[in-house]
Amino acid sequence: MTKIIFLDVDGVLNYVDCWNDPANADKSIVFGKECVKQLNRIIKETGAKLVVSSNWRLYKDHYDALIDKNISGIEGEFIGETPDLLPDISRETSRGLEIKEWLDEYDEDCKYIILDDVDDMDDLIGQLVQTDFEGKGLTKEIADTAISILNS
Ligand SMILES: [Mg+2]
Repeated sequence: MTKIIFLDVDGVLNYVDCWNDPANADKSIVFGKECVKQLNRIIKETGAKLVVSSNWRLYKDHYDALIDKNISGIEGEFIGETPDLLPDISRETSRGLEIKEWLDEYDEDCKYIILDDVDDMDDLIGQLVQTDFEGKGLTKEIADTAISILNS
């Protein structure tokens, strides 16, 4: 069965203290080294593939940096990104709805988790492995939780 990680970036692969580094001060494309290392560990230990649910999918420079191993350091296979439902201003949207739409379209059995620092996941909240932007983003402990869910 395919394993999938729906990947947010800000608050997962970086965190507030990353901007204390003067080199990052005026940048928006910032990766926390330890966070990326933990994501790579999840990928290695579970074989999970990546679907970008972060807003980074909407900005070419951010998306290109994310999927380029030489820039992000991510050693995994990106298999897609969730649809952007925000233009449909006639209704409330949430990241959970966008992920659900992607899953409906995918239409194959898969085991998945959602890595995100925000919990707007609607019915999919049970799959959320939440990180902390004010903390250290994706930590070893959180990665351990992700691995045990994906390998269960
Ligand atoms: Mg975030």
